[in-house]
Amino acid sequence: MQFSGLRVVREALRGHRGWAPLWRDAAPKPNYDIVVVGGGGHGLATAYYLASVFRQTRVAVLEKGWLGSGNIGRNTTIIRSNYLLPGNQPFYEFSMKLWEGLEQELNFNAMVSQRGIFNLIHSDGQRDAYRRRGNAMLLSGADARLLDRDALRGMVPYLNFDNARFPIKGALMQPRAGTARHDGVAWGYARGADRRGVDLIQNCEVTGFRIENGTVKGVETTRGFIGAGKVGVAVAGSSGRVMGLAGMRLPIESHVLQAFVTEGLKPVIDHVITFGAGHFYISQSDKGGLVFGGDIDGYNSYAQRGNLPVVEDVAEGGMALMPMIGRARLLRSWGGIMDMSMDGSPIIDRTPVDGLYFNGGWCYGGFKATPASGYAFAHLLATDCPHGTAAAFRLDRFARGYVIDERGAGAQPNLH
Ligand code: FAD
Repeated sequence: MQFSGLRVVREALRGHRGWAPLWRDAAPKPNYDIVVVGGGGHGLATAYYLASVFRQTRVAVLEKGWLGSGNIGRNTTIIRSNYLLPGNQPFYEFSMKLWEGLEQELNFNAMVSQRGIFNLIHSDGQRDAYRRRGNAMLLSGADARLLDRDALRGMVPYLNFDNARFPIKGALMQPRAGTARHDGVAWGYARGADRRGVDLIQNCEVTGFRIENGTVKGVETTRGFIGAGKVGVAVAGSSGRVMGLAGMRLPIESHVLQAFVTEGLKPVIDHVITFGAGHFYISQSDKGGLVFGGDIDGYNSYAQRGNLPVVEDVAEGGMALMPMIGRARLLRSWGGIMDMSMDGSPIIDRTPVDGLYFNGGWCYGGFKATPASGYAFAHLLATDCPHGTAAAFRLDRFARGYVIDERGAGAQPNLH
């Protein structure tokens, strides 16, 4: 297949009739070995690894809208593995390693860009905390550098280092962190799964679970009943609603998170920067737009749009960190629904219903987890054993008191 500029012009002139679809528009079969609910990044990655690594091909992904219509296409594309706790760090580092080989694996350009992330330090106490986090990262094989103010200033001179309230004293840097094109990731996994025989079924909303004697038999959908040996749910912000259909109440609340992009500018920010004192983080897209965001809207919601008080709060954070941002014109803003777990860490586990499995609780941070989450969920669905890096992500940890309380990295916005 040829993707030259000439081809693009030729297709434009003939109404784009010559492009082949990346996946089949599959119709539902009466039953599958495994049904994955949710065609976001995690559901598609799960299906891909089920087929490619675990040789499961009687698999369907059921998506209520179109593939990639949820958070996978709405996030600010940051990938990193700068976590502290042993329950989290190896998992996110596993994900980072999968990112590093993803485009070769999928033969798809996901624009993985390891441009480095800075978590800014504004106080001596914060420096101590980031030093500890950096050491934990190094111990688990990740990369980390603690930068003093001068070293940081040499790299990002446009920040307001002398802000009276939040002077910048340095940063924890992860050089291998960066960004990836979010919808490209969904499309790459979708094409890879489809080519291995997975049915990707769009406009197919799961409306109920058929459960007999404590065992799942399949799902009720807007396109009829679909039988399944196993059902894996990966619906992110809709987790509470969908698992409620199986009679379960999760330790998860849904909130809206907004994001923003400016008009295209010449290259100015060549890293990802997160404010350590306020709710603000920023990078620049390859098209030139400054992509940024901040805190969640503070009440529960399933709406995919946010409200003005948070817009104001994010703008204030941006102005405190880099006053030059006030000159840029905002192009768009949007929102997505976050599945906020109570300890800021995810859940990848069986449920009390035999054959029903759950993946969720990703808070702000599920994009970076997409490859490892898909791999670990596929491992669990195929083998009934948790993947080694995801063994702590148990559903019952909230009842047992074994929480992985890492809101400083998972659920707290200034680390995104
Ligand atoms: P989704 O793409 O939301 O997939 C879930 C799918 O399930 C949806 O397509 C939905 O339509 C479908 N579904 C729901 N109910 C049903 C049903 N009943 N039947 C069938 N299908 C159903 N993470 C990072 O790591 N880095 C970031 O920089 C980052 N920034 C973010 C910025 C914003 C503004 C937002 C909104 C999120 C951000 N995140 C970030 C978080 C990240 O996007 C999510 O954690 C992650 O995408 C969630 O997993 P997913 O891709 O599978 O979700």
